Amino acid sequence: MSIVNDVTRCLESFAPTSYQESYDNSGLQIGDPLREVTGVLLAVDITEEVIDEAITLGVNLVISHHPLIFGGLKRIIGGNYIERVVAKAIKHDIAIYACHTNIDNVSAGVSFRMAEKLGLLGVKVLKPIGGVLSKLVTFVPHSHAEKVRAAIFEAGAGSIGLYDSCSFNLSGEGTFRASEQANPFVGEKGVLHTEPETRIETIFPKYLESAVISAMINAHPYEEVAYDIYPLANELASVGAGAVGNLGAPMNGTEFLGLVKSAFRMPVVRHTRLLDRKISRVALCGGSGSSLLNDARRAGADVFVSADFKYHQFFDTDNQILIADIGHFESEQFTLEIFYEILIKNFSNFAIRFTKVKTNPINYF
Ligand SMILES: [Zn+2]
Repeated sequence: MSIVNDVTRCLESFAPTSYQESYDNSGLQIGDPLREVTGVLLAVDITEEVIDEAITLGVNLVISHHPLIFGGLKRIIGGNYIERVVAKAIKHDIAIYACHTNIDNVSAGVSFRMAEKLGLLGVKVLKPIGGVLSKLVTFVPHSHAEKVRAAIFEAGAGSIGLYDSCSFNLSGEGTFRASEQANPFVGEKGVLHTEPETRIETIFPKYLESAVISAMINAHPYEEVAYDIYPLANELASVGAGAVGNLGAPMNGTEFLGLVKSAFRMPVVRHTRLLDRKISRVALCGGSGSSLLNDARRAGADVFVSADFKYHQFFDTDNQILIADIGHFESEQFTLEIFYEILIKNFSNFAIRFTKVKTNPINYF
């Protein structure tokens, strides 16, 4: 048996909620986290038809990319579709969970999946996120340094890019005097003690702080563990908005736009004037990515594939980069594949289905 919490935890180990943007509202929005999951329905957006589909299928967890409750909710009296969906979901014991900008921001998330659909190589995050890393410094008697390092690495500290177990270690002397009530690992009560110690420095993503600190304290021999946590201004290269990578072989503008139309299954793509050079470097961002246009230019992209550009933003290219506006829904449609792949690997005791409801509110004629 799996409960709602098992499923949301699994998704969050891939896309931690702490990586969502400050304006976002990812996470469990409706439902009992301890309830047994009878099945999962995946959708980009949640509409009343999606909830009806879940009821018909006997599925009690709906996972969406866009949060149903986003800008707050002051009453539930059926005044708009959000209030009606909330009421219907609660009435039918259906849990609703959203995984939004946190899955936009992780490598292997929304924009990386778009890059995969275009066959891009050497894909990197377009605009790495800042403020999500901390430094840990602790002081351990030499005999236990190895054990403490291993424990904090196991909890997720010390990963930098393709390397794990990263730390810096210095030898020095720690001093302390234990009170009469203390139970010191070394030294005598009431006597100033000097102990040769290793100063271990490493980094960790903030969301792992409690796991890393408790692993350190459990492995550390001292009754009172001395440690410092520093916030870091560093960016985390593997997390952030958008993606950028290269085509296997350069192609001209119309060829590229044809590739985009077929990869994203769309009848039409809005774009700026074609450049007088071939396309080889491609920046992408799922959803409303227009604010990343300058990041795409700085990354040396020939084209920026995203959605929701306004008329005047099409002028901002200065004919230096091609904009391909592929539509919001179209850019994020493959997010459901990511959810599916994560869940199918980890759960075999309930069905996982894609909604058959067309939730894209935009039509083309
Ligand atoms: Zn979106």
